[in-house]
Formats: sequence, structure tokens, C-alpha cells
Amino acid sequence: MEIEITTPETSSTFSALAGMFTYDHEQVVFCQDKSTGLKAIIAIHDTTLGPALGGTRMWNYASEQEALTDVLRLSRGMTYKSAVAGINLGGGKAVIIGDSRANKSEALFRRFGKFVDSLGGKYITAEDVGISPRDIEQVHMETNHVTGVPEYLGGSGDPSPVTAYGVYVGMKAAAKKAYGSDSLTGKKVMVQGVGSVGYYLVELLAKEGAIISISDIYEPSIKKVFTNFKVSVVKVNDVYKADMDIYAPCALGATVNDATLKELKCNIIAGAANNQLAEETIHGEAVKSAGIFYAPDYVINSGGIINCYWELQGYNRDAAISQTEKIFDTTTDIFNKSEKENTPTYLAANKMAEERIIAIGKIKTSF
Ligand code: NAD
Repeated sequence: MEIEITTPETSSTFSALAGMFTYDHEQVVFCQDKSTGLKAIIAIHDTTLGPALGGTRMWNYASEQEALTDVLRLSRGMTYKSAVAGINLGGGKAVIIGDSRANKSEALFRRFGKFVDSLGGKYITAEDVGISPRDIEQVHMETNHVTGVPEYLGGSGDPSPVTAYGVYVGMKAAAKKAYGSDSLTGKKVMVQGVGSVGYYLVELLAKEGAIISISDIYEPSIKKVFTNFKVSVVKVNDVYKADMDIYAPCALGATVNDATLKELKCNIIAGAANNQLAEETIHGEAVKSAGIFYAPDYVINSGGIINCYWELQGYNRDAAISQTEKIFDTTTDIFNKSEKENTPTYLAANKMAEERIIAIGKIKTSF
């Protein structure tokens, strides 16, 4: 049986099934192991293009329902991300319910690895929020269906530099559309969040002569960037009203919302953070009406998944970088489609993903 509901009540069963059917998932696997305290959900959204790849998130969810909603939403997002990136992967994701600071153990991750392995490669996992390279190593002890494995174990290591490169070329495509030139020299760029991806993005922007502002809630992250590059630092609460041409959210999601749109005076939004639009339909339309060129988040932050894809092929960094460079053309195509069809860019991207899945799905049925 593919679905193992962890709570026996009929209402939970129905809500689990309802969520699965709403987003059109192929398979949802509930995993439980009493000895390690593991409670996890693996969601496989769509495997038309290839095995479902997406990271594992460990989070202290308030309820199992919240964890289920998150994994269903995130796995669907992965289907769209890989489809637009032009790689042969489907969408999947896993969540482990628990406190990533208190509930980790080798046994828990190895047990989780066994669950991943039992799917025979239909789902391939990777790192996400709350998961460290060490946890991935432990998952890897039980399964080969894992990417983002440390370099010393033959993997591709930290994907952040490749993700940052994709965001950078996506930002250049947006600049070309907004200003007629892809040059970022002299452009005022506000990078919100200078962690793994934000740091490498600042490095690329500095090389091109952009005028960079940064903001972060974590002092050591600011210090690291400030000592290596010419940047000005903006207080966390002053980000949206700062003077900028380009807003690059590289921290949290949902920062493009009713409140921030009242303050933001920028021509372009292009950053790494997932789910930047608080409400896709409302704020996707709002940025369009405000004349802001929004480079859809999942399109330009796909360098990380592209890197994972190439790890599966036998890692070739040059190939990963070359494919990531194509984000420039894809972003341009999305802006053009959005203009031609008079739709918000997020919708143009979604349609592009759906068109590829349908087209490739059709050729799979013919010999
Ligand atoms: P990270 O945790 O290394 O960095 C995030 C940074 O944002 C941290 O320095 C943190 O202190 C800061 N931050 C948190 N809240 C903030 C706030 N309110 N204001 C300003 N700064 C704040 O994460 P990362 O790997 O750099 O990823 C950044 C974003 O990009 C995330 O949303 C992630 O989901 C997304 N993303 C990352 C990758 C990747 O390859 N790492 C790939 C795709 C998408």
C-alpha cells in the first residue's frame, strides 16, 4: 500500500487524500519509525520528465497537516522548476517532522535513507532547510538516491555558487528587458540576505561594477561580505524603502506583498528566495501593474537543481554552469511570452513548464 496514514482518524485520511488530489500528485508516502522517532512524508508530484528530485526539509511543524500541506506544495514547485530548467527530472520533496536542533541522530537519517531507497530511485533527495551536509552523508549510507553529496564522497558539494550564477544571469536578462542592455554596471542592487547564495551573488555583482546594498539579520554574514566587497549596509526594516534599481530577495519568501509593494521603488525583482510572491495571483498581477520586471524565482534560482542533475550524470561542473547560463534565454522567453500574452511573468513561466511536460509526456507513449 502506498499511503500509510499516521493518524487513524478518517478526517485526516480524507484531508491527506484531498491534498494529494488537489495538486495532482502521483504518490505520497508516509514514513514512521518508532525507535528513531522518525516521522516523514515523501511527496512525488510528477515523474513525466524523470525521477522526482527535491530536497528534504526538517521542520518543527505545528501539525502533521501543516507538514503535509508544505510537502505537497513544495514538491509541485519542484516539478515546475525542473520543467522550465529543461532538465529531465520530475518534482518531489520530503519533510521530516521534528526540531532540527534537538531531534537529529545518525539512526534517524539512516532510517530515512532506507525509506528513500525503498522507492527504487523514483524519488531522489537532497539538502533543504534544517538539513546539513553531515545529515546527507548519513542518508547516503543507506541509499544512492541522493544528490548534493559532499565533494570528498564524490558528490558536487555546495550548490550555492551555481544557484547564485543562475540568479545573476536571470537578473541580466531582466535588465536587458527593462533597460535595453544586460549590463549591471552602475545599477543599484539591493541584496536582502547574504548567506550562501547572497554572498556569491554579491561577488558576481561587484565584479560587474554594480552599486551594491546588503541587508541581513545575522551580523557575521554582513561582516563577511563587508570585509570582502564594496557594499553599503541597510537596516533590516529599511530594505523596501531603500534607493534601488533592482531588488534581489535572497533570504525569505513572501517579501513581495501588499505592504512592501507600497514602498518598493524598483524596476526589477530578481533573487534566489523561493516563493517571493506572498499570493502568486494577487502579487504577480500587482508587480506587472506597477511596471516591475519580475524574474520568476523558481526560474532563476534553478542553478542548484541543475547542479544536482549533473551530479546524477557523473558530475561535470562545466556542463552544470553551461546549462545554468541558459537561464538568461529562458528568462528572456518568459518576459516575451508575458508581454505577448499580457500575463504576469509567473503565469508565463508556469505555462511554459506545463507545455514542456505535456509535450514530452506525449512522446513517451510512442515508439
Ligand atoms: P542561507 O540560510 O545560507 O542564507 C539566508 C540569509 O538570509 C542568512 O544569512 C540569514 O541570516 C538571512 N536572513 C534571514 N532573514 C532575514 C531578513 N528578514 N532580512 C535579511 N536577511 C535575512 O540560505 P541560502 O542557501 O543562501 O538560500 C537563500 C534563499 O534562496 C532561500 O530562500 C533558499 O530557499 C533559496 N534557494 C537557495 C538555493 C541554494 O542553492 N542554496 C537554491 C534555490 C533556492
